[in-house]
Amino acid sequence: MTTPTLKDILTTGSTPFSSEDEKLITEAYTFAETAHKNQKRRSGEPYVTHCLSVGLTLREIGMDARTIAAGLLHDVPEDTEVTLTEIEKKFGSEIAYLVDGITKLGKIKLRGTKEELYLENLRKMFLAMARDIRVVIIKLADRLHNMRTLEHVPREKQERIARETIEVYAQIANRLGIGELKGELEDLCFRYLDPENYALTKKLQETYLKEGDLYITRIVALFKTELDKEGVRILNIHGRTKHLYRLFHKLKKHDMDIARVYDLVAIRIIVPEIADCYESLGIVHKLYRPMVGRIKDYISLPKPNGYQSLHTTIFGPEGRILEVQIRTQKMHDESEYGIAAHWIYTEKERRGWRNLFFKNRATPGKTPPKELAWVNQLKEWQREIGRNDEEFMQGLKIEFFKNHIFAFTPKGDIIELPEDATPIDFAYAIHSEIGHRAVGAKVDRKMVPLDSRIENGQVVDILTVKDKKRPSRDWLNFVKTSNAKSHIRREFRNEFRTKE
Ligand code: MN
Repeated sequence: MTTPTLKDILTTGSTPFSSEDEKLITEAYTFAETAHKNQKRRSGEPYVTHCLSVGLTLREIGMDARTIAAGLLHDVPEDTEVTLTEIEKKFGSEIAYLVDGITKLGKIKLRGTKEELYLENLRKMFLAMARDIRVVIIKLADRLHNMRTLEHVPREKQERIARETIEVYAQIANRLGIGELKGELEDLCFRYLDPENYALTKKLQETYLKEGDLYITRIVALFKTELDKEGVRILNIHGRTKHLYRLFHKLKKHDMDIARVYDLVAIRIIVPEIADCYESLGIVHKLYRPMVGRIKDYISLPKPNGYQSLHTTIFGPEGRILEVQIRTQKMHDESEYGIAAHWIYTEKERRGWRNLFFKNRATPGKTPPKELAWVNQLKEWQREIGRNDEEFMQGLKIEFFKNHIFAFTPKGDIIELPEDATPIDFAYAIHSEIGHRAVGAKVDRKMVPLDSRIENGQVVDILTVKDKKRPSRDWLNFVKTSNAKSHIRREFRNEFRTKE
């Protein structure tokens, strides 16, 4: 892989930067380069190559100039003498806020001996810190480059990092609908987590595809001619090969027989309107017989993460079976880079918070009407990428998860609470005994009243005394969680009963 340059960032993408944006990115680059001077990556390359790679990924997935600038600067406060205040002075509060978000995300030390606990905490940490989706997206770009250069990391660390990446970061990329990024992260992890099967799958694919490249070229040309003849407007036709990690999973299902994996190569047809999708499908079927049970209309019935497309498997030219995917440009962009947001609501509704970042469990079509407007708005904004950054970014800034906060115990465990929760709610969330015995609370090491409001990301330390075993009745006036309420009430109910 070649090292990206500033010029790559400036020239990638279909919409050119304004001169103002170009200036911002150039300045951020110069700033990062100076700050990281004399620092090297483990690979021996200058440190700034890492920053450039993060910036380029952000550009590729359609992020705005400010996010790219923040990506270029993301390691400056943590790894150099230059402080966040200096970044704020030079680049303003918004960019400084993003950089600070990344720094905080990297700083959280997680307790937990058990791997599961660790991963669960990591997921929650993302939620806690992700008040701005852009921070998470920069973090994903950061992780992508770290994975691409994982060979330079000591052996014993590689597996841990790869596991964390596949279980947390790839999941998040998937949830955000950034399919390309998810695919590459998974393949990179696969190589370290299961080297033997990685090599095997890669070999199978290469052998099978040897004549495949030429075949795809021929098919693409053929389809183009046929669709043109029928007067279908086509924006693009291209072939794509399946990501290795996904291919391996398919292979396992088919006794490692690659001839039975029908979507090893797929032809993608990109058209302007939804009507063109169905028209193209008709023409493809007229030309080549479709395989029974393999026609999928994800336009009418989108996948849980918002994916839309028509899929069909045909007995194609030269007697080969292949998959054809037909979609509009918008659907295509969304599936490659989009932030498919509606899962937040469907899944939250159905599964509650705890399962939020586990594998696809949502059912499509369950989005409540109230939220649907928000989802549509976000999709709308998404379409405006590049044309109206301001508004799009406003949309992204809507808090990732409304009405919930996450606070930390001094040991780093994460406690999930509703907005406006108090230290007493926090205490009962840990254990009813902690609640009953509470006499005071420190928030970020300062004493606070028991009825004060906890903010997202704060560390809360509950002070208890051993011989106190009763809650205070006043607490009922300010606690927010039903958990705390019911524990307090129960205590007083017991009291009445004993007296009677
Ligand atoms: Mn980094």
